[in-house]
Amino acid sequence: MEVLLVVLAAVLAAVVVRSATAQHHLHHRIDQLVRRVAATGPGPGTGGSEGSIAELERATEEVTAQLEAARSTADRMAAALAAIPQGVVLCDERGHEVFRNQAAAAYASGRHAEALVEQAIRELTSAATEGRPHSRTLELYGPPRRVLLVSAFPLHEGDHAMGALVVVDDVSERRRLEAMRRDFVANISHELKTPVGAMGLLAETIASEDDFAVTRRLAQRMTGEALRVGRVIDDLLDLSRIEAEEAPRREPVGVGTVVQEAVDRVRPLSSARHIVIDTDQVRGGHWVRADQRQLVSAVANLLENACKYSDKGSTVEVRSRADATSVEISVHDHGIGIPGRDLERVFERFYRVDRARSRETGGTGLGLAIVRHVATNHQGEVSVTSREGEGSVFRLRLPNGAGSADDEAPVPRGAGHPVATGG
Ligand code: ADP
Repeated sequence: MEVLLVVLAAVLAAVVVRSATAQHHLHHRIDQLVRRVAATGPGPGTGGSEGSIAELERATEEVTAQLEAARSTADRMAAALAAIPQGVVLCDERGHEVFRNQAAAAYASGRHAEALVEQAIRELTSAATEGRPHSRTLELYGPPRRVLLVSAFPLHEGDHAMGALVVVDDVSERRRLEAMRRDFVANISHELKTPVGAMGLLAETIASEDDFAVTRRLAQRMTGEALRVGRVIDDLLDLSRIEAEEAPRREPVGVGTVVQEAVDRVRPLSSARHIVIDTDQVRGGHWVRADQRQLVSAVANLLENACKYSDKGSTVEVRSRADATSVEISVHDHGIGIPGRDLERVFERFYRVDRARSRETGGTGLGLAIVRHVATNHQGEVSVTSREGEGSVFRLRLPNGAGSADDEAPVPRGAGHPVATGG
């Protein structure tokens, strides 16, 4: 019996010891867990199991919050990358794609030109994951014709390679503007080179000329060339001012006033060519909201052309008409007209149908570019119809400042009060 009791006690002691060891082991694991998850927290306390569990709960909450924050940062980054117009592709260090934004998605599933872009993305990705940044320009013949710049950058954190980033940027518009600027500078240089060269030659001849009559004639020609340079510069300044004022001042401007000022401005030319400018069909009740200076400049350019490209003694008519939304000012001439193939291009800077005639009449090739810019600045448009040998009609259409058509009685708000109202 005694022996039995001793064995029982020993077994009980062994069970107690084992359970204490197991509990100790469990505590130890919980402590370790708490230490791992609560790296930033105060660490396991001394409050036994309860304390450790409470610590574990606190740490779990903290980790969950951190996870949530990381997830929303990642979501925000993905939304930002989706919103930008450039295509973005992200790869891991083995070159496997891990992210592609919406703009780049089209290349993956595309054919023809898109497939070429995808091929460039792949090739540049593999170069970048090997640590070499690279970029390639792709000219896609479309339509529409596009120029894309594909750039790949290796990603690393210290010495540790993390993958590669590829960006696909559509640079078509940038390239077009650069080409336009280059052409414009080349055109200006060309425009100025001719008269400046002529002035140099004339000056040289004058220097070695004794005959007063000849000298006087050459000096007159020099003056003519100087005036030509002056006109080109004036028109260039006008054009650049109008281009800079994209959203010009808007005030109620009477079409009658604009036409009258423009007629006055071209009077020296119209009188010299005995051209009658008939403004009887310009309605006094037509108003536009505009920058008066720009508008006068546009109408004067149209009138000047009508006088330059018509025979002496002919008539030019100016008319205005309105519907509920727009007012149209038109200039009709009975001059040489414009060939159909040139109609689209006459609004381009420095474009002339007949270079010699434009030069003869003192043209700069910038007048219609100015008119088009004024129209665009006012959310309007300019158009032309013409017949060679019969004449041309230029129509300048602008938003109606009074909001009433021809058969209504237009009374613009603020008319007669030259108050700047903004655009
Ligand atoms: P320019 O200073 O040479 O007149 P513009 O830009 O005003 O330059 O006009 C461009 C070209 O369009 C002119 O050179 C001319 O060939 C043509 N053009 C413009 N207006 C008329 C018109 N009313 N009749 C015939 N041709 C015109």
